[in-house]
Amino acid sequence: MSLSCFDPRFGERMLSVDEALSVLGESLAGVMRTPRSERVALAQAPGRVLAETVISPLDVPAQTNAAMDGIALARASLPDPASGEPLSDRGELSDHCELSVIGSSLAGHPWTGRALAAGEAMRITTGAALPAGADTVVMQEQLEYRSAQGEDRAEGEAGERVVIEGVTSIRRGQNVRQAGEDIARGSQVMVPGQWLTPAAVGVLASLGLAEVAVYRPLTVAIFSTGDEVTAPGETLPAGGIYDANRFSLVALLRDQGIEVLDLGILSDDEASVTAALRDAATRADMVITSGGVSVGEADHVRSALAACGELALWRIAMRPGRPLAFGMLRAIPADDASSSGQVPFFGLPGNPVATMVTFLQFVLPALRLLSGQQRLAKAEAKDEEGASATTLAQWQAPRLQLIAGETLRSRAERVDYHRGQIVLDDRGRQVVMTTGRQGSGILTSMLLAECLIEIPAGCATLHAGEPVMVQWLGSRGIV
Ligand code: AMP
Ligand code: MG
Repeated sequence: MSLSCFDPRFGERMLSVDEALSVLGESLAGVMRTPRSERVALAQAPGRVLAETVISPLDVPAQTNAAMDGIALARASLPDPASGEPLSDRGELSDHCELSVIGSSLAGHPWTGRALAAGEAMRITTGAALPAGADTVVMQEQLEYRSAQGEDRAEGEAGERVVIEGVTSIRRGQNVRQAGEDIARGSQVMVPGQWLTPAAVGVLASLGLAEVAVYRPLTVAIFSTGDEVTAPGETLPAGGIYDANRFSLVALLRDQGIEVLDLGILSDDEASVTAALRDAATRADMVITSGGVSVGEADHVRSALAACGELALWRIAMRPGRPLAFGMLRAIPADDASSSGQVPFFGLPGNPVATMVTFLQFVLPALRLLSGQQRLAKAEAKDEEGASATTLAQWQAPRLQLIAGETLRSRAERVDYHRGQIVLDDRGRQVVMTTGRQGSGILTSMLLAECLIEIPAGCATLHAGEPVMVQWLGSRGIV
């Protein structure tokens, strides 16, 4: 397959973001391998990708237990208002009833005595196993404890009786967690590809698992390029600019659980770029550079890549981020089946906002795919054509539809990604506003960003009040 933007499908026009993603997906399919796996302690598992199918070795919860503090009883042993029986010992139709308490079942200290008989109840605490003969828990707030003689007495003493208020509202099974109601023994809980979130490691722990098989993290090598680009900490020379991109990229990569090989800053010189790419391709699963791909600058990256692999320079109909290089570097032939001998390469544009926006559109989906993640959904989302969402686009930041809180302007022929913040308008609706000036060099426009506002190609002006799609970057902000 061709990596070129001069693919006959596209002619010489700019690629849309979706077209670029689909070419990217096809290219990556050729190098996709199941990553190698390793076993790690559960505490080391968050942020990793599960490499095994997890079948539950037990019921969770392991035993039927109380969801509230109170008393356990058999619902059938309470008077039934529907049958017309009196609701109290004294024969009045009331909503009270009195039972005798035969003992306690406490969390971690289950009752080991006889089963409850009719007219009996057992004190129980949240999480304690239900005693035999009980099927229902009545919460503390509906109870009053009495001695057998009728005086009030301290809770929990032997021989006490309990008066229950609101008998008619008590349903069989209320306030009871059934054994296995969360996870049944023998059921499939997770499959390979599950991103191990805090909830996922909590679920694995609830199964009693102390360690788990995860994929090895990908290693990604990154460079900045440009004679003017200067490392923070050094004196800024005349005409210099501090290297922002390596730092935002390292942070974006680490957030995805990637191991980063930070290879520093490269000068605009073909020989050094070639040597660096060759070296990086032997040590990393992916290589990312920033800068050096715009028209007039791209030549040395183009020639360097031609020496190390195959390259396409894409003109993508997006702003920021029009120029983007993608290619495959030749790696040293690998001795294991987890490598294809080809290492994907992304040459991101140098403007700091463009670097981040192109990372989010293209590199993030590629990394998620290559790291073995599966997007797991209860019911697989369908796109407008009804096809299952299996493309790389599923790995972009999730899209939400909001309302434009202000009029937004764009260059009509490209999709424009404005950095947005979500606020409530005076009618209580969630609307999206830009974060301020939107130049691709204005990195502070990303500081407040909670989302990227997608102003589609073909839309020069989006009026305040109109619906607009945003890519949600997360409450903490992916960026
Ligand atoms: P380029 O894509 O190399 O033409 O760079 C486009 C713009 O981004 C230029 O103004 C560069 O100085 C700037 N730039 C390139 N790399 C970086 C970097 N690592 N950090 C900050 N700005 C950069
Ligand atoms: Mg440059």
